[in-house]
Amino acid sequence: MSTLRDATLLRTKTLTPSVRELTFDAGGEFRFVAGQWVNLRGPAAASGEPLVRAYSIASAPSDDGVYSLAVTRVTGGPMSNWLHELSEGARVVQSHAQGFFTLEPVVRPIVMIGTGTGVTPLRSMLLSLTSEPLDVPVTLVFGNRTEEDILYRDDFESLAARLPSFTFLPTLSRAAAGWSGRAGYVQAHLAELVERTGKNADFYVCGLNRMVGEVRNLLRKELGVERQRVHTERYD
Ligand SMILES: Cc1cc2nc3c(=O)[nH]c(=O)nc-3n(C[C@H](O)[C@H](O)[C@H](O)COP(=O)(O)OP(=O)(O)OC[C@H]3O[C@@H](n4cnc5c(N)ncnc54)[C@H](O)[C@@H]3O)c2cc1C
Repeated sequence: MSTLRDATLLRTKTLTPSVRELTFDAGGEFRFVAGQWVNLRGPAAASGEPLVRAYSIASAPSDDGVYSLAVTRVTGGPMSNWLHELSEGARVVQSHAQGFFTLEPVVRPIVMIGTGTGVTPLRSMLLSLTSEPLDVPVTLVFGNRTEEDILYRDDFESLAARLPSFTFLPTLSRAAAGWSGRAGYVQAHLAELVERTGKNADFYVCGLNRMVGEVRNLLRKELGVERQRVHTERYD
């Protein structure tokens, strides 16, 4: 990991049954751009090599070095389980902020598509965008299995209530009876989105590789969106 620094775990919060938010203080000099990620170093594996995993930053850029991550507990996953058990006050080693999944100049409609904790860089982008007047329509399509899995739901609903130009579209692949929102995978809603926003929107897609690949293919090959308008981040 390049340019290492220590960060202190300030506080934690349970966001959903499988997602824990961790807020770190990395010191006043730590800076990031919305959409970037950090590498965190975990305990040494059996081989002696430290575990290193990337996590996208979920909070808006700030000047105080404090930032939040949202981590899904993966069954049998060494790093995510370690992070779910980490106590407040613990110190971890992290990299500087990295990655190019960041906002293009805001000159056309924006469509964000995320699943699970793939929403975290999108949330950071949204928070940075909505701190100023929003001149373009922004839509977030957020896929999860069930209603209780919708992390940061209150934030997205409040933003949508406050900003007429922001539309929040949660969709559930295993909706319970009584769910009145969208159903199915995010892929199922793409054609309608492109029809609504036009092909010339910027599409930001984040989550597990399979979803990101399918969404990219649909946008590019079936819906005619230009390559440079599709921005992706893959978690595996
Ligand atoms: C750029 C980047 C940003 C990332 N940001 C985040 C983030 O903000 N939050 C987060 O929880 N993870 C994020 N990840 C994934 C993270 O780096 C780890 O892969 C994850 O925590 C699993 O690590 P592990 O050691 O527990 O399990 P491993 O044994 O390394 O992985 C086991 C399996 O877990 C699956 N997996 C990985 N991430 C997820 C996930 N988020 N949800 C469900 N299944 C998953 C993969 O398919 C993998 O095969 C990111 C990955 C990358 C490359």
